[in-house]
Amino acid sequence: MKTVKSPFKFKGGVHPDYNKELARGKAIERMPVPAELVVSMSQHLGAPAKCIVKAGDFVTRGQLIGEKNGFISVLVRAPADGLVKAVEKRPGPTGAKADAVILDTTAEAPEGAVPGVSPVLAPLDWKTASREELLKRVEEAGICGMGGAGFPTAVKLNPPPNKRCEYLVLNGAECEPYLTADFRVMLERADRICVGVEIMRKILGGPAVRIAIEANKPEAIAAMEKAFADIEGNVEIVVLPVLYPQGSEKHQIYATVGRVVPEPPALPIDVGCVVENVGTVAAIADAVEKGEPLLERVTTVSGDAVAEPKNVLAPSGTKYSDLVAFCGGEKEPPAKVISGGTMMGFAVSTLEIGTTKTTSGLLLLSKKRVFQYASGACIGCGRCVRACPMNLNPALISRVVDANDVKAAEDAHVMDCIECGACSFGCPAYRTITQSCRRAKASIRARVAAEKAKAAAAAAKEAK
Ligand code: SF4
Ligand code: SF4
Repeated sequence: MKTVKSPFKFKGGVHPDYNKELARGKAIERMPVPAELVVSMSQHLGAPAKCIVKAGDFVTRGQLIGEKNGFISVLVRAPADGLVKAVEKRPGPTGAKADAVILDTTAEAPEGAVPGVSPVLAPLDWKTASREELLKRVEEAGICGMGGAGFPTAVKLNPPPNKRCEYLVLNGAECEPYLTADFRVMLERADRICVGVEIMRKILGGPAVRIAIEANKPEAIAAMEKAFADIEGNVEIVVLPVLYPQGSEKHQIYATVGRVVPEPPALPIDVGCVVENVGTVAAIADAVEKGEPLLERVTTVSGDAVAEPKNVLAPSGTKYSDLVAFCGGEKEPPAKVISGGTMMGFAVSTLEIGTTKTTSGLLLLSKKRVFQYASGACIGCGRCVRACPMNLNPALISRVVDANDVKAAEDAHVMDCIECGACSFGCPAYRTITQSCRRAKASIRARVAAEKAKAAAAAAKEAK
């Protein structure tokens, strides 16, 4: 194992204020299970899980409550013992509604019910278990990418037979301002990450390993060097320059192995890479060795309007209001609440939203930190073009989306946009460029889905 500096620097990127000092020194704290959990069936990318419990059921910790509902989907287990108060549509951080199980964790277990015990699944010895057993475990533990996108991990670790994983890239960049959850996991759980890497290498057929960490996390680099000191094979810690969005999957691949992922629908595996967030890798180790499904995660609660910023280990479905209460409450009424980081997160209007497997941060920002502005006309300064790490022309895309010309946005390769926010960050006219990209992408996806459905219906009619 060796530590090297990344020889590859991507084009573009920005340097936002990182503000990580608020929580980076705070050790991970486990919060007590709150009285009520809001457990969404849509905690991952792809089809939401199919809820299999109903109001009045008593569920135990680790019990299956949502079945996988398609190839790109992830099952959901109960994060705690409790009585199902209701199953109803609840909004997630993006505002999109999905079925959620509302769990009263204070309810008495009915006679005969066996409260959830640990381990939930039988522990496995990864050295003797087969690749198939390990893959199955990742799936039955309900693991998805915890870095933000929530891609089903069992699908990612099982590429088609004609595609080989040559590099397993561990994403420990955590370039989003304020967030320190991954940093603390690397500092405090580096040994679990190391076990997770061994398991993933076995599943993927022994790829080389590249662990990507930004240079502003020297303590995490040291902890990982220590944990990985005796690992065998081709393993490198790659120290990346501090530059947003260094944590993007595509940019990590370029920064660590110098390969460029082509336009969508191409995936990292098309250039021989699998990228996984460090928290996800630790979760895989726990699922295999300890039989613990993914029922909880570390979330950074930070910002100048929260009394005591912390890195909180909380069960999935913990309401934002309970997270804030565990951090001492509000220091002052927040002018803005963001689920995630300031660059890619979503502003939310209520704290009655439950965390998911991908909730990396919750930020409460005071008036002082929130800039009120009105968007103006583009002045053609080109700053967004220089900042875009995907070589797009964000000014053009924003103009054509304003004119409702989605076709022109598609021609300008808007589907390549990774929604990093680097363009909006530096725009002197305060144009909401990233939101325009999101809008155009959603509209294109909806059109493609409608075309597919129409084609499928026509094929079914012809077959009759
Ligand atoms: S256009 Fe997309 S990829 Fe480019 S800077 Fe803006 S948000 Fe990022
Ligand atoms: S940064 Fe803003 S003002 Fe400058 S070219 Fe881009 S959209 Fe126009």
